[in-house]
Amino acid sequence: MDLVLLGPPGSGKGTQAERLTLAYQIPAISTGEILRAQRLAGTRLGRQARGFMDRGELVPDEVVIGIIGHRLDEPDTQTGFILDGFPRTVAQAQALDALLAQLERPIDAVLYLEIGRQALLDRLGHRHRSDDQPEIVAHRIDVYLQQTAPLIDYYRERGTLRAIDADQAEEVVFASITSRLG
Ligand code: AMP
Repeated sequence: MDLVLLGPPGSGKGTQAERLTLAYQIPAISTGEILRAQRLAGTRLGRQARGFMDRGELVPDEVVIGIIGHRLDEPDTQTGFILDGFPRTVAQAQALDALLAQLERPIDAVLYLEIGRQALLDRLGHRHRSDDQPEIVAHRIDVYLQQTAPLIDYYRERGTLRAIDADQAEEVVFASITSRLG
């Protein structure tokens, strides 16, 4: 089962990815988490990514595409994976398609967590990450709308998009995800 979670920052991708991991025994892969770990470890990759992340901007495509290429090579992804926060641009989606075509394992479903701007601002206001300050949050939402939202049509055209109402309790959202996976 190869899944992608798509949705704005604060839509609950991380929470649902965790639940999916437990339910289906497949790893959740978060490019944001990998990047934060690289920063903590003080690697070159982490130093490269730091400025973009702190400004609420996207790290360059080739950096995150490289991360995902390596990660999907790991044996634990053999029975499936959940991508949380990747792809975030059309170029990343195209690179992912090319990678998965090579592996002969297309995406089964793109779970689009749909939620309005005000609900997001309310939710993000309660988090305590360094990129969760109000101006940065607003910028991250704009970046999402400009660069990531086009993926909704991208995947709709390919027939893999499953829209989920994400402005509900997390267990309700999860139930609607599992019902859509059949
Ligand atoms: P996240 O934890 O998914 O909200 O990601 C935190 C930050 O990491 C984002 O604001 C970006 O700066 C960076 N990031 C994570 N995933 C990607 C991606 N797929 N493409 C570009 N930048 C990313």
